[in-house]
Amino acid sequence: MNIPFLELKPGYLELKDQLDEAYHRFMDSGWYVLGQEVDGFESEYASYCGSRECVGVATGLDALSLALEAAGIKCGDEVIVPSNTYIATWLAVSRLGATPVPVEPVEGTCNIDPLKAKECITDKTTAIIPVHLYGQPADMTEIMKIAEKHRLFVLEDNAQSQGALWEGRRTGSLGHAAAHSFYPGKNLGAFGEGGAVTTSDPDLAEKVRLLRNYGSKKKYYNEVKGYNFRIDGLQAAFLRVKLSCLDEWNERRKSLAEAYLKGINQEQGLQLPEIASGAVPVWHLFTIRHPKRDKLQEFLSEKQIGSMIHYPIPPHLSDAYKEDQDWGSLPIATEIAKTTLSLPIGPHLSGESVYQVIDQINSWLRSN
Ligand SMILES: *Cc1c(COP(=O)(O)O)cnc(C)c1O
Repeated sequence: MNIPFLELKPGYLELKDQLDEAYHRFMDSGWYVLGQEVDGFESEYASYCGSRECVGVATGLDALSLALEAAGIKCGDEVIVPSNTYIATWLAVSRLGATPVPVEPVEGTCNIDPLKAKECITDKTTAIIPVHLYGQPADMTEIMKIAEKHRLFVLEDNAQSQGALWEGRRTGSLGHAAAHSFYPGKNLGAFGEGGAVTTSDPDLAEKVRLLRNYGSKKKYYNEVKGYNFRIDGLQAAFLRVKLSCLDEWNERRKSLAEAYLKGINQEQGLQLPEIASGAVPVWHLFTIRHPKRDKLQEFLSEKQIGSMIHYPIPPHLSDAYKEDQDWGSLPIATEIAKTTLSLPIGPHLSGESVYQVIDQINSWLRSN
């Protein structure tokens, strides 16, 4: 048995002809920064998400911080973020000199708890970043209600949820803007770095477009102090190919997740992920929880089954943030970090492998 946590090369091999064709088309075009492939990807991805505009940028982190900056979030503002997200969500806030305000998740889904978010709003709060963690949409209905009442800017962190649905609508089209990452391991992964901002607000899109390109629309005429956060044109060409099979690959993830949900015995302290009503997740990760998580991971590793921890250290306990302020106790985030384990999942993992993982976990549960 050798079941790696995730393999990326089979994704290239399955689409080799189309990807190689995209590569040659790009090289033959003679135009290598922004241009046709980027425009093409942006309009295809905007329409996939159901938003009016898409602006391709260099990474998911840049997408988060550019969207915040374009919305006017500034030094001294408070921005509500999940306590249990990947650190990028917090870093985007910190980069602007604003303060991340962590809010604990609902235990079952691990997504931000809107009621707790509401309690953290002060007169300095200007934005909230719900993260659709592990491929499962956050409760956008409640979040939008709260945001409307308190005039908050809502930025979805959709790095892990391309294609997910919340009450029939795609994540990435539910907030005022959304940030996407095309890091290779994401559901819509490039073959290098990439990111995007989607929004249905044309003014916001225009600002992001300016900021990503040195603050200029016309070359050498700089309207604002911008950055070079442009998406790479070759990655855009590859992403057009990947986008055309995103739904099918998400379906494959779904059937593996269903096998896990049905097959793993929810006993001896093992917890399976819960799906919120109204949510259609895309299973970026399949995470289980167990109090003896480290022992289980060691056991799987002896059986040559790969697994990972998302994430071992919550942002407020990381060296990067622990000295900044007293973050208070965030027991749910801390507990998740101690007990969560991500099992192998991906569009090229076989059902047979998943059954083997299930058998091993169930036999470990029986003897623990
Ligand atoms: C991957 C990820 C990001 C950052 O994306 P990069 O492209 O790596 O910068 C942001 N937020 C979450 C939740 C992520 O998983």
